[in-house]
Amino acid sequence: MSLHPDWLGEVPPNPYAEQLSRGYRLLRFAPSLEREYRAYVLRDTLELKRVAVVYALLVWLAFAGVDIWMIEGPLLAALLAIRAGVGLLLLACGRVILSRRHSQLAAPLGIACIGAMGFGAAAIIALGHSQDPSFPYEGLLLVCIAAYFLVGLRLVEAVITSFLVLLAYGLFEWLGGLAPERLFNNLLFLLAGNLIGAIGCYQLELKSREHFLVSGLLRVLADQDGLTGLHNRRSFYRELGRLWRQAQREERSLALLLCDVDHFKAYNDHYGHQAGDRALQQVGEVLLQAARRPLDMAARLGGEEFAVLLYDISASEARQRAETLRQSLEARAIEHAGSQTATVLTLSVGVCCLQPAADLAMDSLFEHADRALYEAKAFGRNQVVT
Ligand code: GH3
Ligand code: MG
Ligand code: MG
Repeated sequence: MSLHPDWLGEVPPNPYAEQLSRGYRLLRFAPSLEREYRAYVLRDTLELKRVAVVYALLVWLAFAGVDIWMIEGPLLAALLAIRAGVGLLLLACGRVILSRRHSQLAAPLGIACIGAMGFGAAAIIALGHSQDPSFPYEGLLLVCIAAYFLVGLRLVEAVITSFLVLLAYGLFEWLGGLAPERLFNNLLFLLAGNLIGAIGCYQLELKSREHFLVSGLLRVLADQDGLTGLHNRRSFYRELGRLWRQAQREERSLALLLCDVDHFKAYNDHYGHQAGDRALQQVGEVLLQAARRPLDMAARLGGEEFAVLLYDISASEARQRAETLRQSLEARAIEHAGSQTATVLTLSVGVCCLQPAADLAMDSLFEHADRALYEAKAFGRNQVVT
């Protein structure tokens, strides 16, 4: 399915947008996204699996009544033994699924339950037919429908499981000597039912994948600054809170570089707002270069104000990184005829580096960096103050 709305091309590059425009009709994403999707499905269908296993156990045992009603003699004992064996397996798997403890096992256990019920039902039906030709076989369709809709399996898992069950059913009935025309009728009925299940399951998985991609994309967009692609203010504060606590736990330092473009109002007045936007994008690129380690972060806090957060860094290194950042923008030589500081666009940077003590408020990091930035402006701009 290619969900290719016009605006997708304007979104900053990210894996969700890329997959949305590439399509996923074959129900497969790029490898890393596919792994993320499977983990999402596992979380998303855990409740469904919990309901399914209780439902399966009740229905499975209820049909023992039909066995007792229609079959007699030693054959009944065999049927009930199969029912008890599969019932015990459902109980064991159900315990694990209901406990939520080993959630990564939920998918294979779900397949095992469906498979066991399918093979068990196929054997029971074939044995039943050896004594009573009118013994019902339609229950097998219930198992297949559960595979498509109730257990939260992906289409490929549901199709393979159901196909193997039907294969086993055909084999058991053939070995039991069921009349060919009846076997043909039964298999045709079950296959037709499976086709409906597979089509429905395909549509559901397509929608589930679309939902996964769109919600992932929305998450990315909600955290991104639309102009520069950096973190926006909200996501910056959220991540900062997380890194602040991590730094407290690991006793590491954090450095905050608050950056403000010099005389930017004059830049807009002189070159126009659109040129101003392009200049801000260039500033964004420079900042992204400065925050390339995994736990570093660059953000646009608003207007022409930016921030870089550096994790586990000494004060002198942080100052050096800020100086490199300032020089990088200067080296881009973006002409700024309206500036009273230089002939090109420049940046003032206030730096604060500290190791967050347990009782220290996060605001103090901003207060110090803000004061340093104020001084950088007051001392003549285009400079770093620590
Ligand atoms: P200073 O050197 O003291 O920082 O002076 P300044 O002119 O940079 O500071 P001021 O806060 O007076 O002006 C900031 C300007 O940034 C005003 C506004 O027009 C401009 N601005 C804010 N957001 C945007 C934006 O998204 N795009 C553009 N092009 N300009 C913006
Ligand atoms: Mg400003
Ligand atoms: Mg400014």
